[in-house]
Amino acid sequence: MTVAEPDCISRFREFVRIKTVHPNPDYEASKQYLISQAKDIGLTYQVVECVKGKPIVILGLEGSDPSLQSIMLGSHIDVVPVFEVSFINIFKHIKLVEFWTYPPFAAERVPTEDGDFKIYGRGSQDMKCTSCMHLEALRKIVNSGTKLKRTVYAVLAPDEEIGGYDGVNLLVDTFEFKNLNVGFDLDEGMLAADERYSVSYSERINGQVRFTAHGNTGHGSQFIEGTAIEKLLPVINALMDRREIEKKKLAALNDGKTNLRSGESIAINLTQLGGGKQANVVPATFSAVFDIRITPLIDSNEFKNWIIELAHSYGVEYEFLHPKENKYISTLDRSNPFVDAFFASLAERNIIPIPIICPATSDCRHVRRTGIPVYGFVPIKNHQMLAHDHDEYVLESEFLNGIDIYVDVIIGLASV
Ligand SMILES: [Zn+2]
Repeated sequence: MTVAEPDCISRFREFVRIKTVHPNPDYEASKQYLISQAKDIGLTYQVVECVKGKPIVILGLEGSDPSLQSIMLGSHIDVVPVFEVSFINIFKHIKLVEFWTYPPFAAERVPTEDGDFKIYGRGSQDMKCTSCMHLEALRKIVNSGTKLKRTVYAVLAPDEEIGGYDGVNLLVDTFEFKNLNVGFDLDEGMLAADERYSVSYSERINGQVRFTAHGNTGHGSQFIEGTAIEKLLPVINALMDRREIEKKKLAALNDGKTNLRSGESIAINLTQLGGGKQANVVPATFSAVFDIRITPLIDSNEFKNWIIELAHSYGVEYEFLHPKENKYISTLDRSNPFVDAFFASLAERNIIPIPIICPATSDCRHVRRTGIPVYGFVPIKNHQMLAHDHDEYVLESEFLNGIDIYVDVIIGLASV
């Protein structure tokens, strides 16, 4: 027996096939696709281009009282690069290793043993499934004839995977965005590894820092004093010691199986080391870059000051790579009627999402900066997390179920 493919799955697969992959995402094809969806569903649409060639597509379902604050469904349309193959040299035998079982932009629909299907493709999880579930939920609402009180906008943005600086970051300051009069934003969330859905209300702050040390140079056969490396090493060691402390803290918080509480710790990784030109010359300059993600639960300035003092005490220069990044926390207080409606509509389905801090940054922070409360939520559970990984896929049953959950949540929020 062959199971017919639902139309919404065909539309999702079509969207996954559009190569919005960095470094040269096809935003034009994506824009055209979204406009065709708007026309097909019966939504309004507008395109805002804060930076030429980087369109933000806004689809709208007008409510019966457009003067009320609207509901935003935020998502990004870009995806990270793929590594399809690699050549490994084993004792002079060149071996071809393929990382993807199915081509990453073919959106193959592959049956599983238990009668489900997997839709493979880069972006299937991060986050074209969410974009498409948003649109399918709006389609269902339109088709059912339900008239919403508040206007709902699906905002589909470029460049989130490279910081969102030319996308949502600029959008939120435009006249067009202010005109949307957004009161609540449902945005990028984390897939659930087990039965427990999550809702993120804040995210870690990017504290990436570059240390640069300068010192005496000379012949590598001598004991040169005051070298760049001598200055830099204690700084590196102090951060690696702090990394161990944070790792233990997180291990004590987590239940071992999921990553739900990682946003409550400070992640520290040495990601780049640079310097030295030749083996027999002591380098005059050496640098180290750390990727640091600071939990918003601590005073981030206090932590940054610790880094500054550390650099000063060893005579090392420091540069925070994203000095403007700040912390924003959206309220979980149910006296906010939108927050209450969000949780209430999920409770009808016996869903109680766990409030979490997103371990990485997303476009949510740009919207939060304006004071709009933003919540990261995606109704997909019991799923292997493969964002940015090889063989990224989404389960069809979870995608279909997620649409219905979104329908309830959107109706709940738009009825406030
Ligand atoms: Zn994403």
